[in-house]
Amino acid sequence: MDFALSPKHEMMKSMFREFAEKEVAPVAAELDEKSEFSWDLFRKMGQLGMFGIPYPQEYGGAGADYLTFVLACEEIGRACTSSAMLLNGQNSINSGPIYRHGTEEQKKKYLVPIITGKALGAFCLTEADAGTDASNQQTTAVLDGSEWVIDGTKMFITNAGLADIYIIMAMTDTGNNSKGISAFVVEKDTPGLSFGKKENKMGVRASHTAEVILQDCRIPRENLLGKEGEGFKIAMQNLDSGRIGVGAISLGIAQAALDESTKYAKERQQFGRPIGANQAIQWMIADMATELEAARYLVYRAAWLRDQKKAHSKEASMAKLFASELAMRASVKAVQIHGGYGYMKEYKVERLMRDAKVCEIFEGTSEVQRMLISRAALT
Ligand SMILES: Cc1cc2nc3c(=O)[nH]c(=O)nc-3n(C[C@H](O)[C@H](O)[C@H](O)COP(=O)(O)OP(=O)(O)OC[C@H]3O[C@@H](n4cnc5c(N)ncnc54)[C@H](O)[C@@H]3O)c2cc1C
Repeated sequence: MDFALSPKHEMMKSMFREFAEKEVAPVAAELDEKSEFSWDLFRKMGQLGMFGIPYPQEYGGAGADYLTFVLACEEIGRACTSSAMLLNGQNSINSGPIYRHGTEEQKKKYLVPIITGKALGAFCLTEADAGTDASNQQTTAVLDGSEWVIDGTKMFITNAGLADIYIIMAMTDTGNNSKGISAFVVEKDTPGLSFGKKENKMGVRASHTAEVILQDCRIPRENLLGKEGEGFKIAMQNLDSGRIGVGAISLGIAQAALDESTKYAKERQQFGRPIGANQAIQWMIADMATELEAARYLVYRAAWLRDQKKAHSKEASMAKLFASELAMRASVKAVQIHGGYGYMKEYKVERLMRDAKVCEIFEGTSEVQRMLISRAALT
């Protein structure tokens, strides 16, 4: 057993950290304040090949492993959660279904532009009445000659309206529950595709979230991904990978909370000595540091299992559950350590606390992760 990152992984981690500190961290607070998606960061990450980290070079990917991708999410997440979400989405849920289930033609047309940074993707599963119960899809797709006609509305979709390529889940066999769902690729300029207003969110404000509206939206028959009825399986398999990414982003948030807290605990003086001299503060820092190590091993191990092509569904849920709840606990503690200053926008910990919350919600809530983990444990 070897707990060390390989020299190559260490090198990639430092490269991602350097990029995060030089390009991402300096603009993160402003992007959050303005609630603005950064096309500039999108371009820079794309040019560096960061959107195709675990994909083969023949499709324009970096040909690296999933652990390398996890290190990227962690380092970018330490600087800006919204930018890490962009990175995670492009490398996993926006591209995975096309890579795993697309035809060669679909891969050339849709996967290559996403992972080479020429196109932004979106993954559309959630609806008003299909959140945790994702199988309750009301969006329908009906075959009409050589076209699929899609009708329905998707909620809370990351990159909706900005993205060029949309992976849409829709019912092709109503009444057949999850087995009646199919996956499709829809291009942005397709007539019948429109977008709702941008959501005004608590956190990850530099990530764009909106509704995707499909009204008599006609797409070519060949835009079906995989086979009819495979959509739910495609979505769930895809979320296993995305969840490891969310776990890694959470590590970045927790690391940032710890970094900010230790710095402040040494600087801030009360009663004539640094607040870090008090056991109350020391214990908060000790818990953050210990839980962060535990979370890191869960996330890295889930990525390693995936790289070994071993079953990793339960481990992805464990990694996401533990790391996201840690990011929340650690960022709340970080605000507490900063006292009143931590409640002010001038200090990074306030943003960390708002951003951490979403990691417990999207790509399956903590409750869903517990359901999946207990189901695996009880069978
Ligand atoms: C910022 C943001 C970005 C997002 N991006 C995307 C995206 O790009 N694509 C996409 O498809 N979706 C996206 N989502 C949607 C996200 O995945 C859903 O919000 C999430 O799955 C929860 O669904 P819901 O909001 O409908 O909550 P609900 O399903 O209504 O759940 C409400 C509460 O009930 C709990 N609950 C529900 N059922 C059970 C149960 N059986 N047992 C115990 N507890 C239960 C939940 O855990 C939760 O606490 C995004 C959400 C956010 C906030």
